[in-house]
Formats: sequence, structure tokens, C-alpha cells
Amino acid sequence: MKKAVASRLLCRSGLRRLLHRTARWSGVLTLNYHRIGDALDSNFDRGLWSASADAFSEQIRFCKAQLEIIDPADLPRVLAAKRGRYAMITFDDGYRDNHATALPILKREGVTATFFVATGFIDAPRLPWWDEIAWMVRTSRQDGLELPSCFDAPIRFDEPHREGAVRRLLRKYKEMPADATAGYLDALAAVTGTGRCGAGAGERLWMTWDMLREMKAAGMTIGGHTVTHPVLSRMSAQDQRHEVLECGRRLACELGEPMRYFSYPVGNANAFDQTTRECLREAGVSYAFSYYGGYRRFDAWDDYDVPRVAIETELDTDWFRSLVTLPQLFG
Ligand SMILES: [Zn+2]
Repeated sequence: MKKAVASRLLCRSGLRRLLHRTARWSGVLTLNYHRIGDALDSNFDRGLWSASADAFSEQIRFCKAQLEIIDPADLPRVLAAKRGRYAMITFDDGYRDNHATALPILKREGVTATFFVATGFIDAPRLPWWDEIAWMVRTSRQDGLELPSCFDAPIRFDEPHREGAVRRLLRKYKEMPADATAGYLDALAAVTGTGRCGAGAGERLWMTWDMLREMKAAGMTIGGHTVTHPVLSRMSAQDQRHEVLECGRRLACELGEPMRYFSYPVGNANAFDQTTRECLREAGVSYAFSYYGGYRRFDAWDDYDVPRVAIETELDTDWFRSLVTLPQLFG
């Protein structure tokens, strides 16, 4: 909120341009998107829409004018030079609008981006846990739920509490050990009265391997994002290893190239650990991307923790422009 107000003041006063010229920074700013388009009245997780198609075009144009847009494959050169201002554009999860909406815009602007996909969703399309939880809350005929084993008090989800309830239930999922999550989804299905979503609910949600090959042919980079999108640090070492190596195996098999880049599901500093790093090393990954912060100076670089800033629809033009030109303050 403070950043939103500060960015507005900076932009309106003309101070942003002045600071951009005078404030010294160099490093890499990495932007992260999920879905492009309009959430409208979707029953799925509306928090996943990062920008409308128009806002995305404008953001790419602005970014291109201010910074050099690079791909992960450029990092060795950029890191060796240790100077300059760079941006990377990345997408997580593999939603089909990345191909239908984002790809044409990127091509038109002559910009390349990296798409991190969870191979299990491409191989066997289904609703992911975050979309299924949102779907339960939004299609339930009840106006709230009680689940004493997880929440002290009942959770209301009549309007205007619905979006807040979705966020709260998702937060709980992210906190629990991986082997408790299936039971949690079953419990929510029971107490919301919706049941689990049927097979086929996620049928057209994800890109196909053919679409990913087309993106790769258009110069886009495809990276790994596990098989089933768990919070890796909450899994046993053996399960983590499977999620990373099997993801790499599927990507190599379908795209004919080893997995060199990876992004951590959920991606905060607690979502991956030393075991995850060892698995990545074993898989031959060069760079792994997290999901907090967004800007990294060259002297603080960590190959397995390249921070990314979440682009969300709340981010207005002033805020985005401040972020891109003054990442040391806004990233
Ligand atoms: Zn993800």
C-alpha cells in the first residue's frame, strides 16, 4: 500500500524520471506472471490473473524501453560483465492463456520470456489445488464452513467475504506438510458440500506439449516447475528428488533439451531448502527462481535463488513504472 502511494507521488511529480537518471543501480529484475486476460466471473483462483492483455502489452513496451530484456541463457554473460540493467519476463504454471494471449503479444513486441511448467498438469490435465479450493468456495451453496481441526472459528464466505475466504484456505494449504494436503482437500469438499471437482474440470486449462514446442520454436524458454506443484520443502528428500528429476525427464523427453531452469512452486524463502538445491544440482539445473523480492544486485547473486516480483492486477501503471525504473526501492 505504501509502495502504491509512493509510486504515484513519484510518477506524478516527475521525480521518478529524475531518480531513474541519477540513482545508480545495476542488476537483474525478474518479473513473474501467471495468467493474462480477465478473471471476470471465473470460479477458479482469481488471484492468478496477473494483467489484462492490454496492461501486459503496455508493461512489456515500457520494460523494453527502459531495460535490456534477457533470457536465462544470457545470465552467464551478464553475470560476468557485472554491469548494466536487465529484466527477465517469466511465467509460472503453464496456463493455456500463456499460449493464446501472452505469446502473440511477446512476438509482436519482439520480446522473449521463460515459461515454467508443472509437467503433471500438461501430461494429465486436472484442476490444481488452488483452483479447486477457489472453486469449492465459489460454487458452494452454503455461506460458510466450519473445520475445527484447521480453523478456530467458522469461516464465512457469503459476499463480500468470499475472496478473503479463498485466500485464507489457500494460505492454510501452503503451511501444511505435503502428506496432509489430500486430507485437507477432502475435508473442504465435505464441509463446503461441493465434493471434489470432477475429472475433466481442468481439461482445457493447461498448454499442451505441442503448444510448448511452438513456444520454444518462437524463441521462448521452457523451464521446470515440478510435476505436481507441491511446496518442496514440506516433502521428504526422496519425494523432492522425484518432483525435480521426473519434471526434468519429461521436459527433456518432450522438448529434446535438458531442463536448465527451474522455478519453485509457491516460491517464498521457506518453500525450498538445502535438499531442493541438491536435487537441482543432480538434475543439472543452472538457475532456479524464487517468488519474493524481485531485484538482485550482481554482488549478491545466488544461482538457485533468483528472486522474482509478482505482477498482480492491483499493480497500477505508476507502480509498475516505479518498479521497473527503481527496483532497488520497489522490487
Ligand atoms: Zn506455480
